[in-house]
Amino acid sequence: MGFRVPGLLLSILLGLASSHPIPGKKSFNKLLLISFDGFRWDYDQDVDTPNMDRLAREGVKAKYLTPPFVTMTSPSHFTTISGRWIEDHGVIHNMMFNTETGWKYSFKTTQNKTEWWDNGVLPLWITAQRQGRKTASFHYPGGGAKYKGEAIQRSLVESYSHPNSNETEWRENIDIVMNWFTKEDFDFVTLYYGEPDNVGHRYGPETENRRVIIQQIDRTIGYLLEAIERHSLTEHLNVIITSDHGMTTVKKKPNVTEILLTNYIRYKDLVKFDIVDYGGFGMILPIPGKEEALYQALKNAHPHLNVYKKEEFPERFHFAKHERVLPIVMFADSGYNINGRLIIYFNKGDHGFDNVHMDMKTIFRAFGPDFKKNHLAEPFDSIHIYPLMCKLLGVTPEPHNGSLAVTQEMLVASHDQQPGGEMQKTSALRNTAIGLGVVTGVLAVLFVTSVIYTAVRRKKKQRADQNNKNEPTHLAQLPKTSF
Ligand SMILES: [Zn+2]
Repeated sequence: MGFRVPGLLLSILLGLASSHPIPGKKSFNKLLLISFDGFRWDYDQDVDTPNMDRLAREGVKAKYLTPPFVTMTSPSHFTTISGRWIEDHGVIHNMMFNTETGWKYSFKTTQNKTEWWDNGVLPLWITAQRQGRKTASFHYPGGGAKYKGEAIQRSLVESYSHPNSNETEWRENIDIVMNWFTKEDFDFVTLYYGEPDNVGHRYGPETENRRVIIQQIDRTIGYLLEAIERHSLTEHLNVIITSDHGMTTVKKKPNVTEILLTNYIRYKDLVKFDIVDYGGFGMILPIPGKEEALYQALKNAHPHLNVYKKEEFPERFHFAKHERVLPIVMFADSGYNINGRLIIYFNKGDHGFDNVHMDMKTIFRAFGPDFKKNHLAEPFDSIHIYPLMCKLLGVTPEPHNGSLAVTQEMLVASHDQQPGGEMQKTSALRNTAIGLGVVTGVLAVLFVTSVIYTAVRRKKKQRADQNNKNEPTHLAQLPKTSF
């Protein structure tokens, strides 16, 4: 019947409007960021890694990734998750310290200290949460802190006794994360593993032990690929696999003359507080008035020790401007440890060195529905991962030092049709179109209703006129409108 059409039209229009996804939310895929600590860029080149090779074919591989200076776990991870240089985000070391009390907190203790992490720069977890995404951190550095009073929705922090290399536990962690995505609808999860860093320190990067742990990581990546399929996430989950820095073999005597600061300075006369004995990077707070004396004593002390006043530290590191950086900043040439009063240093491999050295470079791999396949990307700085993650999640980024232009070419064209910046414009246009459609529909319905109403009244009047002459009125025979 002709009278049903407007009702149908209205329900189609309303249906269109209500089935449209909330702008900026469900049209984006989920994202998993995995970090394998201390995975040097070339670790997959002298050992069989069938799963990583498969990833290179099915996704994106960068030739290598340059971490920020200082090439250290917490500072570098926080650059990845915030897109800010270390001097801007303020997480300048793995250890929290206090120059007044002399206290130093270990890497793991520092994980629970909000005051070390929360310096005004928001990590992506918090920004994404504020924009309606569900986020979680599994052992990722900084995930245990609160930012401007806000905690990450779900956060597991590594315990002190956490084993670094238990392969079964590695798989269980993947299962937990997959369930977060599928059963609890998390949008963004960061997952951290402490290897191959631990093995790299302990045995050195050029050893069979390191090759063995890389094979374990490769099997874990294979397990991840299976788990993604098993949870039907293949078409809905993007994955980025990266790391925080590389690793180099430590140089020791008798091959070299080791750096021992007490050979050049009298500690009790010049040094108030220091952070040394921690790989190739160190800082000193001089006794007041002794800054120049300390600097002069150290600057040409050892041919492989580079010593700067904080304000003269090279700009390219984007490191020294933060107030936490102590007045004298040092880094050693690749492989030299900076020892303070004694050589009590057992590591066979280390990092913390200049990020121009190839041994400090690390990995970047990515795959999933928004990434191109079999795409080899040029090397880039890890600071650019942040805007890429924001784009994948449809999150408006905080101010940052990265650039989406660096990573844009990794994405498939269909993703480019809804780029982060233009997304809001696109959805605004779409909403306007839907709004106009609904208004037009309602107007059409009103118009048709009034036409029908007029027609019905006219017909009623005709019948009434007729009935007045013939029979009683049968109102039930009159057409009913369905709206
Ligand atoms: Zn390390």
